Amino acid sequence: MNLVPKPAYPWPGVIRRYADFLPVTATTPVVTLLEGNTPLVPAPGFVRAIGGKFELYLKYEALNPTCSFKDRGMTMAITKALERGAKAVVCASTGNTSASAAAYAARAGLKCVVLLPEGKIALGKLAQALMYGATTVSIRGNFDDALRIVRELGETGLIEVVNSINPVRIEGQKTAAFEICDALGDAPDFHFLPVGNAGNITAYWRGFSEYLNAGKADTRPRMMGWQAAGAAPIVLGHPVEHPETVATAIRIGNPASWQGALTAASESGGAIRSVTDEEILHAYKLLARTEGLMVEPACAAPLAGLIQAVRAGEIPDGSLVTATMTGHGLKDPDTAIRVAGFEPIVTDATREAVASAIGLS
Ligand SMILES: *Cc1c(COP(=O)(O)O)cnc(C)c1O
Repeated sequence: MNLVPKPAYPWPGVIRRYADFLPVTATTPVVTLLEGNTPLVPAPGFVRAIGGKFELYLKYEALNPTCSFKDRGMTMAITKALERGAKAVVCASTGNTSASAAAYAARAGLKCVVLLPEGKIALGKLAQALMYGATTVSIRGNFDDALRIVRELGETGLIEVVNSINPVRIEGQKTAAFEICDALGDAPDFHFLPVGNAGNITAYWRGFSEYLNAGKADTRPRMMGWQAAGAAPIVLGHPVEHPETVATAIRIGNPASWQGALTAASESGGAIRSVTDEEILHAYKLLARTEGLMVEPACAAPLAGLIQAVRAGEIPDGSLVTATMTGHGLKDPDTAIRVAGFEPIVTDATREAVASAIGLS
């Protein structure tokens, strides 16, 4: 199945746009939902609110087809699975990988199996996997358990693993770094992002590095990766057996791309650090209220990290800072409603009652 867009189609998806940098050929059967080309939204109100004097742009990956950055890697993984003649794909997921795998597998006509940690999946992500028709298995364990099982299933050779241990996922995800450079005309000074399984920070560093080598950027950013304090194996220097955080997308105790994250931080002069759930939820609300951008809690980890870095005087005035907002706030409506801090006001259906309730009388 090759979904050839009309010649005049403005955006062909990340594989066709960045084919020169990806392991594809003219005959690769591209499976795309026209992912990528997400907005780089300036966030001056947030910067003002945290007392910074620099430019911040948010790569709003929530506007991908399944509302997270996972689509960039999944278009590659499902395309390559189809090219190799696979009939079924499997992944372990904290939620967004399963949503993305299920959608792209549906589009390609492949069977999809997803393994999720029981009870720890944000509602919207579960709805997606079920709606796209994936065989959905909830295991009594965490993400790390699910990934171990998926690796073992992959070794049978009967089913293709589309987790980020599949190297083409990282290849697809690096296109976000290309888009940032294309939009800004060069790489930023700093790039902030959440770190869970650490595939994305690995991918961004590869993307920025390849653009530098290709002469499409003159610099590379310092990579600032943020884990949740209850799930911070890279910061601690050892796996965490029972990771816990409100940011379920980064609730991972033994990241598959651990080394990639360390390399990105050390080669770039950046760092991998952690923030508490309290700091995450503060930044989560602050972004929504200062910029009108609703993200899922994991995206607030780098924002909380940015607040820390500003307080520590680490972001020089006039810096150009970018941050990846990895997934949409509507993925996790339970947390949004719990954290918002107030509920709808119920009144009689009269002008007087509403006026009085909102303080107009
Ligand atoms: C997957 C995911 C992450 C973590 O990305 P890694 O590549 O696993 O480090 C962060 N935020 C969201 C919303 C995600 O879906």
